[in-house]
Amino acid sequence: MKSACITGISGQTGSYLAEQLLEDGFKVYGLVRRSSTFGTERINHIYDNPNLELVYGDLADYSSLLSFIGDAKPDYFYNLGAMSHVRVSFDIPEYTFDVTGTGVLRCLEAIRKSSPKTKFLQASSTELFGSTPPPHNETAPFHPRSPYGVAKLAGYWATVNYREAYGLFAVNSISTNHESARRGETFVTRKITRAATRIRLGLQEKLALGNLESKRDWVHASDVTKAMRLIMDLNWADDFVVGSGEMHSVQEFLELVFSKLGLNWKEFVEFDPRFLRPSEVDALCADPSKLKKITGWEPKISFEKMVEDMIDHDMKLAEKEKLIEKNMP
Ligand code: GDP
Repeated sequence: MKSACITGISGQTGSYLAEQLLEDGFKVYGLVRRSSTFGTERINHIYDNPNLELVYGDLADYSSLLSFIGDAKPDYFYNLGAMSHVRVSFDIPEYTFDVTGTGVLRCLEAIRKSSPKTKFLQASSTELFGSTPPPHNETAPFHPRSPYGVAKLAGYWATVNYREAYGLFAVNSISTNHESARRGETFVTRKITRAATRIRLGLQEKLALGNLESKRDWVHASDVTKAMRLIMDLNWADDFVVGSGEMHSVQEFLELVFSKLGLNWKEFVEFDPRFLRPSEVDALCADPSKLKKITGWEPKISFEKMVEDMIDHDMKLAEKEKLIEKNMP
């Protein structure tokens, strides 16, 4: 039986990856950070699968990573855990660097010490390219614009270095923003679908946002995890850019969501400078041609379909909230 370890298993991307691996008969070990709340909603539906084992640990704690990897000695290790919010990384830069940057080094070191045959994948990010104009392929210059981006860049190079220095199978999947109905509610796409559906049902009046001009290549998270698996199944270790190659602005996303709900976004959206970043990334868009050529990968879920799924999901959630509101004394 093949096995895989996943950090960040309770996050959006980790939950899709775990689901896909379990479906294919893998034994899956997930690293979960201790918290006073559960935070495991995204993996509740696979919780009872006998091939899923959750282990407490932390990317900030080398000893926990060493036992996690040393005990499981998995065929594959996917590092999806991170402090993943760009805006928040400006508020907690040192913590971000520790978890999102040094955390990668800790995983690699633990693999080198206790399970050097394990294939390692780092969830890298097109945030690495920062102010470099798109399209972004594997040779585009790096210029990160946030503590998050800088930490991800350290993780990228740590991965390359352990490959070159120790011959580990260590690769980077350099992905653009990936979204779904499981996306955290403080990321702009989900913030918009949540608010628009709540506004539609009269549960909320306004939506406060920052910069509407930035552009992103929003791809479905389940397509990104499929790409990661293809990259890991290659016979040689290499880095790949992953994304749809299609870019939209935040304003376009807003217009699309509100118009699908029969609303005019301009009547509801307010500007709030709290959501601006001290240095912004204006445009990110992948050129995934290397990945397509070598593995045949391409996204299965279109941008339009992804947006519709997110709206449908959030409309159901808003309907439930409405029902609760109605039944309150
Ligand atoms: P990021 O690309 O990893 O930073 O993903 P986000 O979803 O957090 O942000 C995408 C873009 O939306 C960025 O350029 C943000 O500046 C912009 N944006 C505008 N308003 C908001 C907001 O209220 N929240 C967030 N998270 N982003 C916003």
